[in-house]
Amino acid sequence: IRTLRIGLIPGDGIGKEVIPAGRRILEALPASLGLKFEFTPLEAGFETFERTGAALPDATVEVLRSGCDGALFGAVSSPSHPVKGYSSPIVALRKKLDLYANVRPVKSVIPATATASSSSSPIKPVDMVIVRENTEDLYVKEEKTFDGPQGRVAEAVKRISERASHRIAAMAGEIALRRQNIRAAGTPSIHASPLVTITHKSNVLSQTDGLFRTTARAALAAPRFASVAVEEQIVDSMVYKLFRQPEAYDVIVAPNLYGDILSDGAAALVGSLGLVPSANVGEGFAIGEPCHGSAPDIQGQGIANPIATLRSTALMLEFLEEEAAAARIYAAVDANLAEGKLLSPDLGGTAKTDEVVEDILRRL
Ligand code: NAD
Ligand code: MN
Repeated sequence: IRTLRIGLIPGDGIGKEVIPAGRRILEALPASLGLKFEFTPLEAGFETFERTGAALPDATVEVLRSGCDGALFGAVSSPSHPVKGYSSPIVALRKKLDLYANVRPVKSVIPATATASSSSSPIKPVDMVIVRENTEDLYVKEEKTFDGPQGRVAEAVKRISERASHRIAAMAGEIALRRQNIRAAGTPSIHASPLVTITHKSNVLSQTDGLFRTTARAALAAPRFASVAVEEQIVDSMVYKLFRQPEAYDVIVAPNLYGDILSDGAAALVGSLGLVPSANVGEGFAIGEPCHGSAPDIQGQGIANPIATLRSTALMLEFLEEEAAAARIYAAVDANLAEGKLLSPDLGGTAKTDEVVEDILRRL
C-alpha cells in the first residue's frame, strides 16, 4: 500500500465547491489500486489575504514542501484593481516550488460513434496536452524603456536556456509515453501512437527559438523516447492548424509565451472552462489545478462543474506515477460525458455539482 499525502487548497469562490470533489474521487478509488491518501487542508487566496494579510501563508508553502507528495489547488479571486500587499498565490507557488512546467490537457467528449479521421463530421475530436515551459522566455520580465533618437522605445528580454528547454522537452516525452500507458489501461483516445510537436518560430528567432528547437529535438532523441514520433511546427501556422485540425495533436511542447497563448486557445475547443484541467509540475511534485477561476457569478449555488477538478486530480496522479488510478478517473469522467445525461448547467444540463460527482464515482 502506498500512502500519498495531498495538500488541499480550495482558495476562493467555487474553488471551495470543486476541491472536495477531488478529495472524494481519491477516496473512492478501488482498493485494488493499493493507494491510501492523507489530506491536509491548506489556506491561500484572497479571503486568506483579507483575514491574515498574506495570500500565500508561509505555513502553506512549508507543509507543501515538507509534508506533501502533491496538491490540489482550486481557484483564487484576484481583484482586478491592484490591492496593496496582494499578489497571486499560485504564481508565487510556481516560483517557490520551482514548478517549471504547466501541463494542460484539452479533450473533447468522444461520442461512441465518432471516428478519428471522419473529416466530414462536424464534431472535431480533440485529445491533446500542451506542455508549457513556465520559468523563462519573455516572462523573465526584464523590460526597460528609454529615449531613442526617434522617441520612446521599450525592450524586453526573451531568455531561452538549454537547461529549461531540455527539461520541458523531456517532460513532454514522458507525458507522451504515459498517455500511451493510460490508453493501454482502457481510456478511449483518438490517437494510436505517441507524438510530440515542438512549437517555435526559429525561422525568425533563430537564436532563442532556435536553441529551444534544437535542444528539444536532442532531448526527444533519447533512446527512451524511441516510440515517440517527433515533429515541429512554426507557432503561427500552428494556431491555424489548431483550429482546422485539432485532432492532429497529441502532446505539444512550447516556450512560455507561445504555450500561454496556445493553451488558452486550445481550451476554447471543448465548450466549457469547467472541463479543462491543468497541473503545475516540478521535480517530484505536482499541483493539480482546474483552469477556471473562482466564478463569482455562480458561487454558492452548488452548480459548478467538478470535471475540471476531477481531471486535474487524475493529472496530479499521473505525475505521482499512478497511471492506473489516473486512467480510472479519466475513463469515469469520459463515460459521464459520453452518456450526457447528468451534466452541469455550463454543459446545458441541470445537474448539481454533487450529482455529477456521484454519477462519476459510480462509474469508477
Ligand atoms: P472564471 O473562470 O472564474 O469564470 C468565467 C466564466 O466561466 C463564468 O461565467 C463562470 O461561471 C464560468 N465557469 C468557470 N468555471 C466553471 C465551472 N467549473 N463550472 C461552471 N461554470 C464555470 O473567470 P473570471 O470570471 O474571469 O474570473 C473570476 C475570478 O477568478 C477573478 O477574480 C479572477 O482573477 C479569478 N481567476 C483565477 C484563476 C486561477 O485561480 N487560476 C484563473 C482565472 C481567473
Ligand atoms: Mn494565460
